[in-house]
Amino acid sequence: QRRRDVEVYDSTADRASHRVRMTGDLRDAIAAGALTVHYQPKTDPATGRVHGAEALVRWEHPEHGRVSPEEFIPLAEQTGLIRPLTTLVLDTALAACAGWRRQGHHLGVAVNLSTRSLTDTELPAQVGEALRRAGLPPAALTLEITETAVMADLARSVAVLQELRAIGVRLSVDDFGTGQSSLAYLKLLPVHEMKIDKAFVLGLADDQGDAAIVRAALSLGRAMGLWVVAEGVEDGTTLALLAEWGCDSVQGYHVSRPLPPAALEAWLDARHAP
Ligand code: C2E
Ligand code: CA
Ligand code: CA
Ligand code: CA
Repeated sequence: QRRRDVEVYDSTADRASHRVRMTGDLRDAIAAGALTVHYQPKTDPATGRVHGAEALVRWEHPEHGRVSPEEFIPLAEQTGLIRPLTTLVLDTALAACAGWRRQGHHLGVAVNLSTRSLTDTELPAQVGEALRRAGLPPAALTLEITETAVMADLARSVAVLQELRAIGVRLSVDDFGTGQSSLAYLKLLPVHEMKIDKAFVLGLADDQGDAAIVRAALSLGRAMGLWVVAEGVEDGTTLALLAEWGCDSVQGYHVSRPLPPAALEAWLDARHAP
C-alpha cells in the first residue's frame, strides 16, 4: 500500500516538473516567435471554390519535436500564456490573409479562440487593432469558438461576443454537437457559422447514426440562417454526400491538410490556374 503511494507521488512529481519545463519552453517559443501557423482551406463541396482558411498553431520543440496544440493550448490557458499566444496567431493569420488578397485570392481567415480569451474584456479592442494593423475589413476574420469555452462565464462571454459581432467580425461555433448544451448555446450566442465536429463527419459515409446527426445539424443550421461547415472530410464519398445535402463549406485531409504559408500559396495558385 505504502509503496504504491510513493510511486504515484513520484510520477505526479515527474509530470509536474515536465509541465514546468514545457511552460518555460512555451514562453520562450512565444517570445522568440518560434511558434508557426499552418492554414487549412475551407472550400465549397460542390464547386471547390475556396472560401478561406483556418489558422492552426504549430510548435516544433527543440527536443520533443512537434507538440500537439491539444497539449500546449490547455497549458497556455492555465499559465497566462494564452493572451500572447492568441495575439501572435491573430497577427500572423491576418498578415497572411492580407498577403493572399494582394495575390488576388479573395479569402477570409479563421482563428481559434480558447476558453480564457472569451472572458477577456479587452479582446474586442485587441482584435480591432489587429485588423487595423493588417488593413483588413472585419468580415475577413472569423473567430471559431468552442462551446465549452463559453460555459466558463456565460454572461461575460456573450457580452464579449456581442462586441466582436458589432465590430463586424464573423463568429463560428466550433465542434458543434460535442458540447453539453449545444442547442441552448446556439440560441444564446450571436454567431454566423456552425462547424459540425469531425467526430460525426469522419464516419458519415459508413455509419447511419453519424449521417443522421450531420443531416439534422445541417437542417438546424439552415433553419437558423447559419453558414454550415463540416470538418474532418477525409474521402470523396463524404465530400459528395455533403455537397448533395447542401453543406456550405468543407474542410479536411481530402481537400488539403493544414499547410505552411508558402505551401498554401502554391496550393491556391494551382487551383486558380486554368
Ligand atoms: P479544431 O479547431 O477542431 O481544429 C481541427 C483539427 O482537426 C486540427 O487539429 C486539424 O489539423 C485536424 N484536421 C483537419 N482535417 C482533418 C481530417 O480530415 N481528419 C482528421 N482526423 N483531422 C483533421 P490540430 O491542428 O492538431 O488542432 C487541434 C486543436 O487545437 C484545434 O481543434 C483547436 O481547438 C486547437 N488549436 C489549434 N490552433 C489553435 C490556436 O491558434 N488557438 C487556440 N486557442 N486553439 C488552437
Ligand atoms: Ca477550429
Ligand atoms: Ca473541431
Ligand atoms: Ca477541437
